[in-house]
Amino acid sequence: MTGTGGTSGTGTGDTTDAVDAARAADGFREVYGPAPDGVWAAPGRVNLIGEHTDYNDGFVMPLALPHTCRVAAARRDDGVLRLHSGEIGSGVVQLDLDTLEPRGPVGDRGGWAAYPAGVLWSLRAHGYRVGGADLHIESTVPVGAGLSSSAALEVATAFALDELNALELTPEEIARICRHGENDFVGVPVGIMDQMASACCTAGHALHLDTRDLTQRQVPFDLAARGLRLLVVDTRVKHALGTGAYAERRAGCEAGAAALGVRALRDVPYEGLDEALARLDDPEVRRLVRHVVTENRRVEETIRLLDAGDPRAIGPVLTAGHASLRDDFAVSCPELDTVVESANAAGALGARMTGGGFGGSAIVLVEDAVAERVGTAVASAFAAAGYREPRVFEAVPGGGARRTG
Ligand code: ADP
Ligand code: MG
Repeated sequence: MTGTGGTSGTGTGDTTDAVDAARAADGFREVYGPAPDGVWAAPGRVNLIGEHTDYNDGFVMPLALPHTCRVAAARRDDGVLRLHSGEIGSGVVQLDLDTLEPRGPVGDRGGWAAYPAGVLWSLRAHGYRVGGADLHIESTVPVGAGLSSSAALEVATAFALDELNALELTPEEIARICRHGENDFVGVPVGIMDQMASACCTAGHALHLDTRDLTQRQVPFDLAARGLRLLVVDTRVKHALGTGAYAERRAGCEAGAAALGVRALRDVPYEGLDEALARLDDPEVRRLVRHVVTENRRVEETIRLLDAGDPRAIGPVLTAGHASLRDDFAVSCPELDTVVESANAAGALGARMTGGGFGGSAIVLVEDAVAERVGTAVASAFAAAGYREPRVFEAVPGGGARRTG
């Protein structure tokens, strides 16, 4: 493998959490002077299967990464929010809570502050009484790599504000509030998966989530016990067309649902797919519908195989999911296709892009014995194609958001 990534937290609430929290508290003191009231952590995620289904009321199956965003925070009573990130060199961004405007300017030094500010705005928009705060942020979640650094930042912020203001929200309520902030304050039309994954995943499990009603099931996902590993390959590219294309795919899915007379594509049964496709005139909408319906089916199939104790058999399901995202949903890119092709050619059980697409990361299911070889093969394929060296690390399912200090 070409690197281990920033796996400084194990995500199980152990001593590593305490070390990371102490570091974040030190960072807080350096920026603001006094000690914080506490430190909260929330993880990034990879999605095992169920891509572009979360805004179609469908099924997803994310697992939390050991990589977390930590927020060291102290309450203020003067309606001021101060934000500082160890990763983004913008200095302290200071905002007045009463002047927070959806999609408006959030300080003059970088758009990142909109993510935590949006959480606070969303809490207030939901009627919660929330005062100001000082926040210092440190994160090991790769930013913009499709591993959901944005939701990790939002959820860690929300857990901090929840406790500082004694709101006693559930993780599901926190996920909804964070998503509302990202949708309506930051202005990114994401579904609910990332925030739910960060707030609700548990160590050693993948989260089977119905995004319509947020019904959840923690599915045991202990690959090590079966001699398997899930590798994450961060391509370290993010193609610019991603944001507009995401909105277009969403609109296409909504058009498909409207044409078929259903509330969302989740309501098109797999058994009725051919008949549904025959009723659609627009070939592009047909392809989008086929992806969403078959992808929901692949989530069910993955669950069935995991419940049957056969995790090796999910490999081909992952690869079929990639083909669908590449050919029908058209959100892959040459770098992601290269990961999947080179990993499978080198003996992986299966692989697919994960997250929104157009760059970011892919996941690869491998036997222990070939993990090294597969990682090397992917790196060689990248070098041969003239791509940047990818970052490869293992995804061991970590815990969801929690107080760590
Ligand atoms: P992803 O969620 O896949 O990492 P996004 O584009 O959704 O990618 O979110 C990345 C954005 O989230 C960054 O550009 C930045 O604005 C914000 N962000 C994430 N982590 C941090 C951090 N540690 N400090 C400041 N901003 C962050
Ligand atoms: Mg994101």
